[in-house]
Amino acid sequence: MGLQKNAAPAAIAAAVLAGVAGLAPAHAAEQNYPTRPVTMIVPFAAGGPTDVVARSLAEAMRKSLGQTVVVENVGGAGGTIGTARVAKAPNDGYTVLLMHIGFSTAPALYRKLSYDQANDFQPIGLTVDVPMTIVARDNFPANNIKEFLDYVKANASKLSMANAGIGSASHLCGLMFMSSIGTEFQTIPYKGTAPAMNDLLGKQVDFMCDQTTNTTGQIKAGKVKAYAVTSTSRVPSLPDLPTLDESGLKGFSVGIWHGLWAPKGTSPAVVAKLQSALKAGLDDPAFQKRMSELGAIVLADKATPAALDTLVKSETAKWGAVIKKAGVYAD
Ligand code: ASP
Repeated sequence: MGLQKNAAPAAIAAAVLAGVAGLAPAHAAEQNYPTRPVTMIVPFAAGGPTDVVARSLAEAMRKSLGQTVVVENVGGAGGTIGTARVAKAPNDGYTVLLMHIGFSTAPALYRKLSYDQANDFQPIGLTVDVPMTIVARDNFPANNIKEFLDYVKANASKLSMANAGIGSASHLCGLMFMSSIGTEFQTIPYKGTAPAMNDLLGKQVDFMCDQTTNTTGQIKAGKVKAYAVTSTSRVPSLPDLPTLDESGLKGFSVGIWHGLWAPKGTSPAVVAKLQSALKAGLDDPAFQKRMSELGAIVLADKATPAALDTLVKSETAKWGAVIKKAGVYAD
């Protein structure tokens, strides 16, 4: 009995010490985070519109994180393969996801997803909003949006439209474009619009709807024909392009918001560090200049977990209903 009486406090003390010792490294790891490079997964091909945003943002975040942010491209299946990679990554802050509107369309579009969009992620914040452009191979037989609309309606069965896979921005824009003009085209999926752009430059596909972060350089260099932007007002960096809305497709509006996520369960201290690095990155003058040259709008005032969480919930509900009604699915 006496031994037990004395043993109890000792055992408790030992347990407390073990607990403290067990907790200390994790706590220290959070306090010192990041001590090594952070990987930013882009779920599309290198050199494309999301990659361009990611690489600029990675550089801007590096300045305040004090560690390199390495961009890794994991393309395929409209961005769902790279998104799944982050869902299953360790939740230690060393793997984050830069994804766009497709994050909220995938649950309705894909019958099977290997992740749970609502429960596997910790939002960090919104990043940028990117308008889209309708672009075609440089020998396409139309010189303005009116000629383009007339031509594609009259020759639909002969034309191919590129996209970055089901659930990508270019796929979504293509669906909306086809439904608004009441015409269907053969669609060709790629792992991102970087390889799609290569085929457009090589004239293997006819046209696509793609983000200004991928098309601005090619438009300004005269390597593709550009007809219109998908935003409701003109894009300052491409002032000569009319909106689809002003070109007769009343109400046409597609903007591609992007967000940053970590795996679910990332500690609040690490989330706070990532969020403040994101905010500092979005406020960085070099990042802002690059985005404005590419037509993207920086969402610095929405770089919070709450803002991204709210948007994802409303967008998932909105697109879920649209997709269900349209009956579009991928297996
Ligand atoms: N964001 C994709 C990419 O970076 C393109 C898309 O979603 O249409 O290639």
